Amino acid sequence: MKTETTIQGLAASLQPARTARKIIGFVPTMGNLHQGHLNLVREARKLCDVVVVSIFVNPIQFGPNEDFDNYPRTLDQDSQLLADVGCDIIFAPSVEQMYGKQPRLTNISVSEITNDLCGKQRPGHFDGVAVVVTKLFNIVQPNYAFFGQKDFQQLAVIRQLVRDLNIPLEVIGVPIARAEDGLALSSRNGYLSEDQRKVAPSIFKSLKHAEAELQQGTDLKEVLENIKTTLTTAGLVVDYVEARTPQLHMIDQFNQDIVLFVAAKLGTTRLIDNLQIKHTAA
Ligand code: AMP
Repeated sequence: MKTETTIQGLAASLQPARTARKIIGFVPTMGNLHQGHLNLVREARKLCDVVVVSIFVNPIQFGPNEDFDNYPRTLDQDSQLLADVGCDIIFAPSVEQMYGKQPRLTNISVSEITNDLCGKQRPGHFDGVAVVVTKLFNIVQPNYAFFGQKDFQQLAVIRQLVRDLNIPLEVIGVPIARAEDGLALSSRNGYLSEDQRKVAPSIFKSLKHAEAELQQGTDLKEVLENIKTTLTTAGLVVDYVEARTPQLHMIDQFNQDIVLFVAAKLGTTRLIDNLQIKHTAA
């Protein structure tokens, strides 16, 4: 496994694979890797000849009061984990390598589907994601790119971006990896105190409970309210609890497949999760 920190170095490392028309798979990450990230790499390994993983904490997708400075940076540990799952090349550029010294004048804004859910509380976040992912796609030029369903809205934004701009690659979505108690794995779980960590699984539990309620015929609005109440009682501060179609359209009844979305804060840590629920005709 090689680690490249410059765009030129990465290009040189990938040249033999490009010449031999090998299938290149790409997994963008911000590092501090866990099994969720590693599952993306395992999927890439199955489909691709060469697997590139980027580790880059992207400043422009963090708001001014968010955790950019404190975001965990653990490159040595990440490298070991990536070697174990068969990553071929790590791309770990500096901020200067990615953004240069000249001001950036180009923005990429995916409209509509970024206006609510996480887009509301995090203005500019998805623009920052769209810019860095487009840059990384252009740098790596992969055949396949792998993203987690944990960030369901992000995955939808990237699918839209790729379609709208004819970016020549296929996006693959990978299911959410969870801890044994159901908590969706996240680099931000490391911020939780021992007590908060015990409360955090209530998010997934409330989503599973909601699924059962919906399947028993409880009204969608009531189900969403129940999630809010459960989480608030457990000590979380709810940002949103929403139901959407898998294409992120608004929906007020459970009469087709839906996705339930939760974002909530435990102390200063913002956690997100979602659950896809199939509608089976009675
Ligand atoms: P991040 O490092 O948080 O930017 O995440 C990099 C990629 O890993 C994104 O595509 C995430 O959706 C994905 N990811 C993060 N956590 C999980 C998880 N628990 N299960 C599946 N994918 C995940």
